[in-house]
Amino acid sequence: MTTHDHAPDKSLESIEYRMREAGRWLKLEDGVIETLIAPRRVLEVSIPIRRDDGTRVRFTGWRVQHNITRGPAKGGIRYHPSVNRDETVSLAVAMSLKTALMNLPLGGAKGGVAVDPKLLSEHELERVTRRYVSEIFAFLGPDKDVPAPDVGTNAQVMAWVMDQYSIGIGHAVPGVVTGKPLALGGSLGRDSATGRGVVEAASLVCQANGTSLEGKRIVIQGFGNVGMWAARLAAGWGAKIVGVSDVGGVIASEKGLDVQALVRATQSGATSVVDAGIGEVVARGVQNSTKVFSLPSDIAMPCALGGAIDKDEATALAAKYIIEGANGPLTPAADELLNDRGVIVVPDIYANAGGVTCSYLEQCQNYAHLQWDEDEVNASVVNTMRAVFKRLHTFSQENGLTYRAAASVLGVKALADAHQLRGLHP
Ligand code: GLU
Repeated sequence: MTTHDHAPDKSLESIEYRMREAGRWLKLEDGVIETLIAPRRVLEVSIPIRRDDGTRVRFTGWRVQHNITRGPAKGGIRYHPSVNRDETVSLAVAMSLKTALMNLPLGGAKGGVAVDPKLLSEHELERVTRRYVSEIFAFLGPDKDVPAPDVGTNAQVMAWVMDQYSIGIGHAVPGVVTGKPLALGGSLGRDSATGRGVVEAASLVCQANGTSLEGKRIVIQGFGNVGMWAARLAAGWGAKIVGVSDVGGVIASEKGLDVQALVRATQSGATSVVDAGIGEVVARGVQNSTKVFSLPSDIAMPCALGGAIDKDEATALAAKYIIEGANGPLTPAADELLNDRGVIVVPDIYANAGGVTCSYLEQCQNYAHLQWDEDEVNASVVNTMRAVFKRLHTFSQENGLTYRAAASVLGVKALADAHQLRGLHP
């Protein structure tokens, strides 16, 4: 029995469906899989703030702790106008599966505020963050729930989270968040970790199919932290980034875009890739950003928001491999259509797990009051991605499952085993 009093949104419905399918494959009792699906805690909070002009405005925020059986809840905080309760729950479920699949001693969480950070000043954003943290304060802590950056948040936001929490406790608690600035106990390599993991996943799936990343044509949706690092690192491996899109539209180049120049342009004022003066602008406007997937390519990396690729985009998609840098970028219909066409999909809970893997390394450094060097952190992220790919690939081959189904089964199994061993209170 589920606990909804209204129809769940698509992303929640689809991840719950995937967990039930995994539960069925594992022959788990219905009572067990339904317990694992239900979030442990869902906090909805009101965030009133004073604007710079003295007027007041109110936002709504959520923090969902989906699973805390294997360790502290872990997952990002998202600032975006589309943030809502069900999407936050679905993203928290994905985090539980991700940490379980990656064998990190962590649970799964997600938080967010329904706000467009681009419409707020820096001071207003700080007030939103501080008020949000004070509303969920009792549930945070290095051993309870550890937030991190996600869409619309960054290291500065994490610094405010750390400060607000530390003020309440009475001393500095760097371990309450990850993805914070280096000067506050952040980790070297955290910035690039998700993109590094995405590129490693692409390289491993190429290898498993008897080829390599070198010379491959890649299209990327999103040029934020994940997409930008994926482009930089993939270009470094000799791949050609033939198309990139963001909220402004799509740029393309058959020869491969000059990624270094694109990074320089977007870091020094260009608000969109289409304003960078790099490559050819082939479409404009946020509604056209998915046109990047119809460019001739070998690998597609959706690194923006969930639900970006539906049936139409999937039909037009040219690549043979999809590496999910974003969380939930394919709708279930698109996933089915692409599977039928033989497109190989490397699912989000593995493909973008470099970020949370590095967050875990940041937590380890905070617990030990140490700072590791960047090569050590990067090597550890890459080694974890390799070890888990090996397990995922073998499991999918041996059992005739897609990577997505195999990843769900492995994640659910780790959650179910931990649940079983701990037993049920009372
Ligand atoms: N927001 C990132 C994710 O979706 C990172 C979470 C974390 O590091 O806790 O995986």
